[in-house]
Amino acid sequence: MSIIAANLQAVEATIGEAVQAASRARGEVQLLAVSKTFPAEAVLEAMASGQRAFGENYLQEALDKIANVAQAQPGSEIEWHFIGPIQSNKTRPIAASFHWVHTVERLKIAQRLSEQRPPELGPLNICLQVNISGEASKSGATEAELPELARAVAQLPNLRLRGLMAIPEQASDPAQQRAAFARLRQLHDALRAEGLALDTLSMGMSGDMAAAIAEGATIVRIGSAIFGARNYD
Ligand SMILES: *Cc1c(COP(=O)(O)O)cnc(C)c1O
Repeated sequence: MSIIAANLQAVEATIGEAVQAASRARGEVQLLAVSKTFPAEAVLEAMASGQRAFGENYLQEALDKIANVAQAQPGSEIEWHFIGPIQSNKTRPIAASFHWVHTVERLKIAQRLSEQRPPELGPLNICLQVNISGEASKSGATEAELPELARAVAQLPNLRLRGLMAIPEQASDPAQQRAAFARLRQLHDALRAEGLALDTLSMGMSGDMAAAIAEGATIVRIGSAIFGARNYD
């Protein structure tokens, strides 16, 4: 078995234990394999194990990889998720090449994605990124900005607002991890109570997926636990 296949099995086991501990169903949690910095061959290996959803952070790298994977496996139904910071002059290729965007934090970016989404592709699935730990350096809308942003994004014609995403401050203490994820869930539930049809909590990475699942994650974004340590050189 390849390393990636074995890693996927181990991640699947961790997710399985976490959903069971939370009395949730396995089908409530989607595994997003974060393939940034890894080549198309790594994606193809994960696909051989049945993985179909992949997350990318860097646009040019992602566009090359999407083309290479499509060429190697024509017709395969891959779901590509953009999970990196978005520059406003790069929204057009994001709108055309991805199924999901997790990192919308400003209305202007959402408006551009909606205007530039090719209509034949159907609505682009959107999560709003929230700065849950409140650190000045981290990206994401503030909790105060969130309700107005969510209401405005929900009105845009070629987007489908699905939910919220966060990257909380790293913590090794599971109780601290859970507190941040619980906060995102509360914000999600508050927007639902206002009438927004949200169904997605994108939270949890390699180091904290169990805590995120315990607090209601519906998408966990897992990179290094599947593909190994990243090398940014
Ligand atoms: C890189 C990245 C991940 C994956 O992180 P790991 O710790 O390697 O699992 C998840 N989400 C986002 C937004 C990322 O940038």
